[in-house]
Amino acid sequence: MNPSEWFTEEHAGAGSAFSLKIKRKLHEEQSPFQHHEIYETETFGNLMILDGCTMVSTRDNFLYHEMMSHPALYTHPNPKKVWIIGGGDCGTLREALKHPSVEEAVQIDIDERVTRLAEVYFPELCESNNDPRADLKFIDGIKWIKDAAPNSVDIIIVDSTDPVGPAEGLFNEAFYRGCHACLTDNGILVQQSESPLLHLELLKDMRNAMSAAGFTSLQTLYFPQCIYPSGWWSATMASKSALNGFREQDSANKSFATEYYNVDIHRGALAQPEFVKRAFAI
Ligand code: SAM
Repeated sequence: MNPSEWFTEEHAGAGSAFSLKIKRKLHEEQSPFQHHEIYETETFGNLMILDGCTMVSTRDNFLYHEMMSHPALYTHPNPKKVWIIGGGDCGTLREALKHPSVEEAVQIDIDERVTRLAEVYFPELCESNNDPRADLKFIDGIKWIKDAAPNSVDIIIVDSTDPVGPAEGLFNEAFYRGCHACLTDNGILVQQSESPLLHLELLKDMRNAMSAAGFTSLQTLYFPQCIYPSGWWSATMASKSALNGFREQDSANKSFATEYYNVDIHRGALAQPEFVKRAFAI
């Protein structure tokens, strides 16, 4: 097999790699923030790469986008205002807007090119961008949180790249303190928290920093995501009030279609593996 027919992401430090067979390169550019590549693959549809890392494929993005949004939105008692930090491909925005209680969803991505390219190569993810409740901003999420008024949002979803480059400052106590201040009393922060298998130390550090920032309750949820390192990913929810389950009735009777998320998936995703329990001392 000619190696040039494959896109490969090597996982630094893990001694592993993930490859997809590609049909052709659709686009490449350097924005002020990151290097963009888009490929047409043989079996996963289109593939978005930022700085050499897989972000989104047509075929499997639903796993990530649904698990980044619905568990938090069904945990909050009545989510009306949602901010998405990052998420420029607009898939998380589309999912959040499926909730009828949501009155306003603001997506804050540092790099407008991610959204403009998603509009061309992942139009299905952008189908809610013209919803009157949607607002797309193109600025640094760190600055957005720093400048935001206290008690102004119910859910903050941090759908960012890995904690290097422009996203580095989205994974520390100072940022979480800012999020804590912006959230309303029952407010929930949810952040993509990498692979439990490969990045457990980072996950622990994130959880410790969220607690140190004043969050009362933490829950890490697990889900498959085959295009990301190890194929197993997580999202961590941090809540200002005690987390006592989720709105199971509402989830079971949801009024919109999903591909992965349902009430049983939500329950199952909350189960904690033994090695993780030991690491988190829970
Ligand atoms: N699902 C993806 C993953 O985990 O690989 C994340 C996808 S989404 C495309 C990540 C977005 O985070 C990118 O569009 C990037 O521009 C954005 N981002 C990175 N740092 C940011 C920051 N400081 N403020 C706002 N957006 C940021």
